[in-house]
Amino acid sequence: MFTNEELWQSVLAQIQLNISKASFSTWFKNTYIISQRDNKVTVSVPNSFVKEWLEKKYNKEILKILHNLDSEIKDIEFCVGKENLKTINNKKLILDLSEENQLDFQEFKINKETNLNPRYTFESFVVGPFNELPHAAAVAVSNDPGLIYNPLFIYGGVGLGKTHLLQAIGNEVIKNFPDKKIKYISSEKFTSEVVNSIKNHEMNQFKSKYKNIDVLIIDDIQFLSGKEKTQEEFFHIFNVLYENNKQIILSSDRPPKTIQALTERLRSRFEGGMIADISIPDFETRVAILKLKSQLKGVLFSEEIYQYIASIIQKNIRELEGALNRIIMYQKINNQPINLEMVKNILKNITSSPNKIITPKKIIETVADFYDLKEKDILNNSRKKEIVKPRQIAMYLLREDLKSSFPFIGRKFNGKDHTTAIHSYKKISEEIKENKNLEEEINLIREKLLNS
Ligand code: ADP
Ligand code: MG
Repeated sequence: MFTNEELWQSVLAQIQLNISKASFSTWFKNTYIISQRDNKVTVSVPNSFVKEWLEKKYNKEILKILHNLDSEIKDIEFCVGKENLKTINNKKLILDLSEENQLDFQEFKINKETNLNPRYTFESFVVGPFNELPHAAAVAVSNDPGLIYNPLFIYGGVGLGKTHLLQAIGNEVIKNFPDKKIKYISSEKFTSEVVNSIKNHEMNQFKSKYKNIDVLIIDDIQFLSGKEKTQEEFFHIFNVLYENNKQIILSSDRPPKTIQALTERLRSRFEGGMIADISIPDFETRVAILKLKSQLKGVLFSEEIYQYIASIIQKNIRELEGALNRIIMYQKINNQPINLEMVKNILKNITSSPNKIITPKKIIETVADFYDLKEKDILNNSRKKEIVKPRQIAMYLLREDLKSSFPFIGRKFNGKDHTTAIHSYKKISEEIKENKNLEEEINLIREKLLNS
């Protein structure tokens, strides 16, 4: 017998294979099984519109899948639930069908006081060259909150682990300092608290609540852009906390200097601490993440399967996890071990083109080839003009096209310092603006990269 969650996850996994992502999200978002009784399954749906649609269009299919999973099931009914969150056995369960994380049925035991999710820890966080620096800073901060890097500002693209890392700091601080008051909040939530406090004349309570916090974590700070009143309140809270050696941790999808409509004083506050970016994970780390995630979910696949998934999803760890979840569900439904062919089939819709994968190694090879040099010439320390330029271009491409971090680039090039990588990147970026030929040259290299 399946649990409600297992059963519904399996149904969704099956249905998902046959309909578009948009329809899937429209009709199956926030649906879940509330009971299996007397051979009948009851599914909660968010509104009557969805109810009608599912009854008309999907009733048969869902029932068939359910019946295949459990032959006892003979009937299905849909009912309109009051809320999207349902308490089952005192546990909150939510089906996160947002974007790529479809089918990631998560059990939330989020602490109401701190807003921390115990799932996000350093133990479950894989470190690679792309996130080494922010990780090291995060660990340092959790051992010594308020005293080393303040604020700690972490930025990077969507689905690359900012929230995970921020929450891991919170969870680690609780472990190390049980008495410290910690609060994690998204900047949207923070903004709405400010707005409500003003509306309800509770600004004083709001302020004193925040001033009591030892570690304040605000996620996705870019959303404060243009919200002057919120920024003003945050500025005051920031100053009080800062002066009292309380730790502030922030994240954003971009560096402080490029957040539009951020008051200058806040910007300079943000820049006053430690800024670290998470770039795109390299292949090895992507494989390591897949392995860790499947371990956490209690499944194991062959090496070639991990490598295949890691080769087709490169820029978003959330998507990486989504693909893994799909495969896990497929295996569960069919109750048979999965092979590479099956994986390719399950993931065919999200596959871009596996032969157009660009790696640091490929960039270096292609640049060397383009200038008729050997790979090792580019990597070594020669100061010859005909070698320096290709080397700088290779570094530029690693940064610009792969979003590699500067320390990573430095290391790739025979252990050079990250400042060398920064210098190269800047030099080429500047030069491109004035020199059309160089721009063309680089675009030619890019073309070769895509066609090689
Ligand atoms: P962001 O906040 O940058 O959009 P998240 O922190 O929400 O990204 O990460 C998306 C998903 O990827 C989460 O499930 C998270 O656990 C996972 N993830 C991200 N980075 C790592 C990592 N280095 N190791 C393990 N899991 C990771
Ligand atoms: Mg996030």
